[in-house]
Amino acid sequence: MRKNIHCHCGLDPQSPDKHLLFHEIPHQARDDREYFCMGSRVKRGMTLLFIIFLSLCSFNHSYSQEIVSPLNIPLFLSGNFGELRSDHFHSGLDLKTQGVTGHAVKAVKAGFISRISVSPSGFGRAVYIDHPDGTTSVYGHLDRFVSKIESVVRDSQYIKESFSVNLVFSEFTLPIKQGEVFAYSGNTGGSGGPHLHFELRDTKTEKPVDPLPAFRNHINDTRPPEIRGLMFFPQLGRGVVNESADKQTVNIIKDQTGKFVLEKPVKAWGLIGIGVKAYDRMDATTNIYGVKEIRLTVDNVEIFRSVIDIFSFDESRYLNSFIDWEEWKTNQSFFMKSFIDPGNKLSIFRSYSNGLISIQETRNYKFEYSLKDSYGNTTTFAFNVAGERQQVPEEKKEGVFFPFDRNNEYSNKGISLSVPYGSLYNDFYLNVEAIPSGLSLFAPLYTFKNRTVLHNACLLTLTITNDLYHDKSKYGVVSVSKNKFSWLGGEYEAKKMKVRIRELGQFTVAVDTVPPVVIPVNRAKWTINQCITFKISDNLSGISFYQGRLNSQFVLFEYDPKTNSLFCKYDAKRMKKGKQILTLLVRDGAKNETVEYYDVVF
Ligand SMILES: [Zn+2]
Repeated sequence: MRKNIHCHCGLDPQSPDKHLLFHEIPHQARDDREYFCMGSRVKRGMTLLFIIFLSLCSFNHSYSQEIVSPLNIPLFLSGNFGELRSDHFHSGLDLKTQGVTGHAVKAVKAGFISRISVSPSGFGRAVYIDHPDGTTSVYGHLDRFVSKIESVVRDSQYIKESFSVNLVFSEFTLPIKQGEVFAYSGNTGGSGGPHLHFELRDTKTEKPVDPLPAFRNHINDTRPPEIRGLMFFPQLGRGVVNESADKQTVNIIKDQTGKFVLEKPVKAWGLIGIGVKAYDRMDATTNIYGVKEIRLTVDNVEIFRSVIDIFSFDESRYLNSFIDWEEWKTNQSFFMKSFIDPGNKLSIFRSYSNGLISIQETRNYKFEYSLKDSYGNTTTFAFNVAGERQQVPEEKKEGVFFPFDRNNEYSNKGISLSVPYGSLYNDFYLNVEAIPSGLSLFAPLYTFKNRTVLHNACLLTLTITNDLYHDKSKYGVVSVSKNKFSWLGGEYEAKKMKVRIRELGQFTVAVDTVPPVVIPVNRAKWTINQCITFKISDNLSGISFYQGRLNSQFVLFEYDPKTNSLFCKYDAKRMKKGKQILTLLVRDGAKNETVEYYDVVF
């Protein structure tokens, strides 16, 4: 599932929503072509004022101060800005750290540390530095901070009695010079290997922008993107491709002359959409990256254009509508659609049409994709689609119709689902089946036949058919895939479980009555290593809380869910020497607790 995914930092849960402020910076105004198009129709004086206004507005996105590299090693990327990830666009650059942790991390520009967050997930240990030019640089998955900062963070962790903290600072607390080392690179949080996640954000709106143009002096890239395949999407009841109403992929292969061509001819009639599978490449690496700009023309007319140079965390989940989500879920393969679902509010689209193409003449239609990276390296791929009259199959209308632009409700015996406006990208037919199942004793196995993704978290209510447990906190809704449960939890209310879901699949009600398992690791070496280490795990609902106390005083345990490890390093400032009793409490998502006691000598 997480193959090829280096970090999940686009899911930053702590990013406050300030998108309303964004209206101060017209997004498309940063695009020269579109701006000058608008400008040419305005009077000269107005134009000058407009230019000054726009320069002020776009000041936040210019890199007025040359950056220094955040690392002392040659820079290579394992991930770029806007790269497609599960449920989100990657919000920064993943800088390789030679496969190890511990490289000094430096401020790319002068400023002050405005925020530090520590969490077992997301960015792990992260530092945010605000710069006078209106940008914020973000550094994620850090291993540790320099001692001055470590001490500030640790004080706060002890005050809050929590490993996870989110600290905000004024400009006077932790000022920082350009190039100053403030931390060391790591692999903390949702990171799949040692690297530095680096972001540039507009400070006011907190929107991440593509930092790569600022790295021109540090990172070489002369290689253009590569196109791998196409996907054709006949529109239901309105179009047909190769005599089928189903979407279909067509690979791109080299012909005898070495030229890239479609592996088979494509014939279409009526309304169709098209998508592309493509990656970018960079010099001196074998990694694949996201493509910054996609442009599609048909008969030399622009049908679709998307540019990922800035987005908001609020809109990042619309990725699920930008890609063919079903293909991603089934084959872990990303096809980017070059047409816009009616419920897709992504701001990366630059074309005026929705990208759907009407084939209604018996002739060849000339298609051309043009794909560009952050440095302007461009690949073009031209191909023909033959307009050929074919029977357009009728749309199947089975189930309950859910229009994308309404509030939709479904209720039947034992199950109800509320899908508010804004949750669907397109119209949808809901089909649900209740199967009595040995998988669960507490509710039938409900199966939504059309697997689909929901933009918002929608309320699903399941009736508990066998309400056997006195302690209702043990119940949880689970999603079922390949006979395995994933705990979603939820709230119990009058023989019902209520939970928020973000995709339709299979659901039932289960119980978790088994407390977490706590295993001491290398107990004989705790004293020598000056570190207490455990492996903790839970069978179903997952670890929700952990706390260690030495002689009833809080001590900081760090938790890394990737390795199930929980550890406490001796801290001379805050811990006593000698023999003490450690009390360790670990709780799961269904409030089952394990409490254990250990003799510890520091
Ligand atoms: Zn990253």
